[in-house]
This record gives sequence, C-alpha cells and structure tokens, in this order.
Amino acid sequence: MDNCGDSLAKRLQQQELMSELSRSFISEKNMSDLINNALRLSGEFLGVERMILSTVDLETGASSVVYLWQATDKIVTVPVVTGLKDLIMGSFPLKEPRGYAVPAILCNDITKDAKFNILEIVGVKSVIWAPIYVEGRYWGVFSVEECLRFRQWSSSDGQLVNLIGSIIAAAVTRDITERKLQEALEQAKRASQAKSDFLANMSHEMRTPMNAIIGMTAIARSSEDISRKDYCLKKINDASTHLLGVINDILDMSKIEANKFEMSPVTFNFESCLQKVVNVVNFRVDERHQRLLVRIDGAIPSLLTGDDQRLTQVIANLLSNAVKFTPEEGHITLSAALEREENGVCTLSIKVTDTGIGISPEQQARLFTSFEQAERGTSRKFGGTGLGLAISKRIVEMMDGSIWIESELGAGATFAFTVNMKRATDAPKNPFGGSLNRESLRVLAVDDERDIREYFGEIASRLGLYCDVAQSGAEACRMIESGGGYDIYFIDWKMPGMDGIELTRRLKSSSDRASVVVMISSADWNAISGDAKAAGVDKFLAKPLFVSSVAECIDECLGVVDVSGAEQDEADCFEGRRLLLAEDVEVNREIIVSLLEPTKLEIDCAENGLEAAEMFE
Ligand code: ADP
Repeated sequence: MDNCGDSLAKRLQQQELMSELSRSFISEKNMSDLINNALRLSGEFLGVERMILSTVDLETGASSVVYLWQATDKIVTVPVVTGLKDLIMGSFPLKEPRGYAVPAILCNDITKDAKFNILEIVGVKSVIWAPIYVEGRYWGVFSVEECLRFRQWSSSDGQLVNLIGSIIAAAVTRDITERKLQEALEQAKRASQAKSDFLANMSHEMRTPMNAIIGMTAIARSSEDISRKDYCLKKINDASTHLLGVINDILDMSKIEANKFEMSPVTFNFESCLQKVVNVVNFRVDERHQRLLVRIDGAIPSLLTGDDQRLTQVIANLLSNAVKFTPEEGHITLSAALEREENGVCTLSIKVTDTGIGISPEQQARLFTSFEQAERGTSRKFGGTGLGLAISKRIVEMMDGSIWIESELGAGATFAFTVNMKRATDAPKNPFGGSLNRESLRVLAVDDERDIREYFGEIASRLGLYCDVAQSGAEACRMIESGGGYDIYFIDWKMPGMDGIELTRRLKSSSDRASVVVMISSADWNAISGDAKAAGVDKFLAKPLFVSSVAECIDECLGVVDVSGAEQDEADCFEGRRLLLAEDVEVNREIIVSLLEPTKLEIDCAENGLEAAEMFE
C-alpha cells in the first residue's frame, strides 16, 4: 500500500511538473529563461547533478552547450567533448522518424559502457540521453547527468526525460518560427520602405527633367536670339534623353517583375558594340576631365551571336555609374577579355574599373537589388533610380553569367561580369589583313600616358605594323633625328612640355617626306581643330582608342578606303526614290519627315497599317 502510495504521489508530482512546464512554455516569457527554468524544475524533480542541452554541428563535429543547469556549483564543468558527433550518429537517427518517439538512452555506469566512455573526462558517472528534433531534423541532445554517484535509472526516468525533451523541442521550434517570422516581417518592411523611397526618388527623377523640358521650351519660344534658342534646345535634348533612360529602366524593371524580360540574339561586331557604348559616355567623360581607357583582348572573336542591345545596356550602365561616381580627373578603364571558349561558346569577362568614391562591403551586398542605392542621400546627390544594377544583374544572368563588385569605400570600384556568347559561324577574316602595305609603313605614337603607349604596342602587333612610341614631343624629335622620319604620326594633343600642336608644327615644317599627323585626344575636336589644322594636323581620332578605328584611320591614310565628305553626302541622297511611312502619332510623322528631308526622298504617310496597305496597292 505504501509502495503504491509512493508511486501515486510520484506520478502526481510528475504530472504537476509536466503541466507547469507546458504552462510556462505558452507564456510570453523570453525563450532562454523558459528553457533554463525547465531544466531547473526537471533537474530538481529528478534529483540529478547536471542537465545539458547541447548541439553538435554534424559537418564539422564541433559541439556547443546551449543551456546548462547544475544542482550545485561543486561539479567541475568541462562541457566540450570531442567525439560527440560519432556518439550521436551512432545513437540516434538524424531524421526524426514518423509516428514514434526515439527513446532516450539510459547508461547507469559509463565506465562499463564503451560508447559513453568519452563522457568520463567531463566527470559523468551515469547519464540519460534524449535526442531533440526540430522541424523533423536532429537539432541537439538533452543530457541528464549524475556526476557524484552512479545511478540506477528507471524506465520512467527515461520516459520523463523524453517528455521534457519534446517540450523543449516544441519551445525551440516556436522560437525558430518566431525568429523567421520576425525576419520576414523586417524584410517586408525594408522592401516596403525601399519602394516608398523609390517612389519619392522617382518623382524627383522624372519631374526634374520634365521641368527642364517645359521651362526650356517656354524660354526658347519667347526668345528672339538664335543662340539662346540653341542653348534651350540642347538642354531640352539632355533632359529628354535622361528622362527616356529613367522610363526605360522602369519599363525594364516591370518586365522583369512580370517575368516578360527576354533576349533577342543577333550576330554583331563586338568591338563596334563597345565603341557605340563608349561614344555615348565619352562626352560626359570629357566634360568631367576624366580619362577613359578601353582594352579589348585580341582573342575575342570579332563577330559574336547574342543580344548586343542588352550587352550594351549593361556596359553603358556600369560606365555611366563609373563616370557619375568618379570625381573630375579620375580614371576609368573598360576591359574585355576572353575567359574561355568551349564548343563555340565564348565566356567574356568584362570589367569597368574606376578611381571613384567606392562602396563599402555592407553597401555592396544590397546594390543588385531593385530600388537600392549605396546611401539614402545618393539620389539627391548623384541622381539615379537604383534600378540599373538590378536590371544589369538580370541581363547578365540571362546570358549565363554573373556580376560582382570589388571595392572599398573611398578606393574606387570594379564592376565585373561574365557573359556567354556564341562565336558567329560566318565570321569573316580580319578585314584589314593584307590591305595594308605594312613593309613600307613606319608609324610613331607620341603620348605621355604609359597606358596609351602600351596600347599602341598592342595595336601594332595586332595589325602587323611597324610602330615606335615616344613619351614626349622632345623624345619624338630625338628619335626622328637619329632614326629618320615616319609615315604616320599619332600624337596626343595635351602633353607636358611640348604639346601635340607644337610637335606637329615642327614635324610638318622640317620633314622632307610626306607624312600624316593624326591627333589623338579626348577633347572636343571642334574646340581644338582651328589650332590643330593650322599646325598641319591631318586627321583627328577620339580617345579612347579602338583597334578598329586606328586601323580604319591607317586605311584611310593609305587610300584603301576613301570616305570623303562629298561621297558621304552623295550616299545619303535618295532623290527620285519614294518612301511609305506608316505611323499613327502625328508628331512622330512630323519628326521622321523633317529628319529625312535632306535625303530628298519623296515621302507618303499613312496613319495605320490598313491605310498603308491600300496606298501600296
Ligand atoms: P543608379 O545609379 O540609377 O542609382 P544603379 O543600380 O546603377 O542605380 O546603382 C545603384 C547604386 O550603386 C548607386 O546609386 C550608387 O550608390 C552605387 N554605385 C554604382 N556604381 C558605383 C560606382 N562605380 N562607384 C560607387 N558607387 C556606385
């Protein structure tokens, strides 16, 4: 009867413990307080020395104690045990079995159990082990330990430890879920904040050019002065081009979000594609007195198949960012290399490096997300929508590549990406091969910038030219004196000491052989052409230099192709020919008709396809 009474009393105590634990876990209390409290209550109930909740990283084998309770502080705590991983793997399934609870392991005397022997160094004598599963996967082990005596565990001790373990597992699961919810909530709030900022930026980005367009139109209309009208038109042109860029970004982004963004591959000339992009930013580079250097790996096939428009868009975005975030006089380099070629698929690696303001690692992580800019104030200070990089990332990924940043705050930035493009099968041979009379041609390039001189070395070897380089006007003069004159001179306009104009003047007045002087500069040709022509400069080549433009220029000097202005004009004349234009927007019809006026085409307009078809018939 007594025994029966004892066990009944024990059962009642046990039930009380369980209900207290369950009650406490549905309270609002902090999770670690709850677990510490649960360990204390159950430790005291079981009358053990120590309770440990530890996790083991099953990949590295590193174990860590997450919660610990001890009955007295006499016990030496050396919680980290090596070899736990094998012990766990050998004791419990790593995936929680469905339908039944994995029973706790009871060990009365670890000195007699080879498996649990490793616990001896942390002072354990008897132990109960129960696995903790969270979201169906092994999470940690609940270890109930006797350290001062050996103990004969009963099966109900084991069941109790199992029960406590499952309550703790539920609590940990709740904790993890709550944390995930919290994270998701914060992410949603951040996204919503970013979108609100974006809307605010966007109205600024759209209204500013729109105001310029409307204001400048009003000024132009009321002004009698033609140069003032011209000034207004230039401003209107700049603002509307900018506005078009903003609108295009928004449209691209909405296409991406609606999963309607597609590539249209065509066969294109890689180098001319880069040249087009560079031409677009060149004006800004010049305006900001920056230097832009372009390096193209000769191994890249001249003809590729891919979406050249989208590739251009990515490079243009990176280049215009580089220009925007690099102070005046800064340097920007665009380089393209062939990383590898497999079965006709070329992996191109393209980099835009600048010496600008740079980006911190925290900012870098966010920049490829839509609407994000490095700093809150960015759009006020530099303009921009924060969409360019997100769009670029998507384009690059659609070309089987990736995009990344290498940068430090204040130390410039490199934006690099790879894309895959097919080598075009109908690639013609090098168009300049054999067309130059290279044996007899001597070329001298004079530039104070080492990069440009090196680039000339590269160009010369690719075109098979004989080319010397000099770093100043004085050095060029010495070389000519000792080794004789050259046929073509590429001369930088702005050099310290003797500048390009002065050098040209000397060459032209002293040389006894016919020669061509090509002035190379990033300055606006209109601004320097007066002096340059007076000094004897024959041609002008804008920096950054492209192999194809240098080759074209040499071809022209050799008379291989004649692209004189007169012929050009004639080629654009279509007198006597007729053109049918189908366009429903009146202002567009007006623009096209006036743009085509110099061609002398006879233009008929239709307002829709049906009308056009009728007119054709
Ligand atoms: P936008 O330039 O229109 O704001 P982007 O997506 O092209 O949008 O760029 C996002 C942000 O990345 C920029 O606002 C700027 O903070 C940062 N960034 C981009 N390029 C550079 C660069 N070359 N140097 C420093 N910061 C840059």
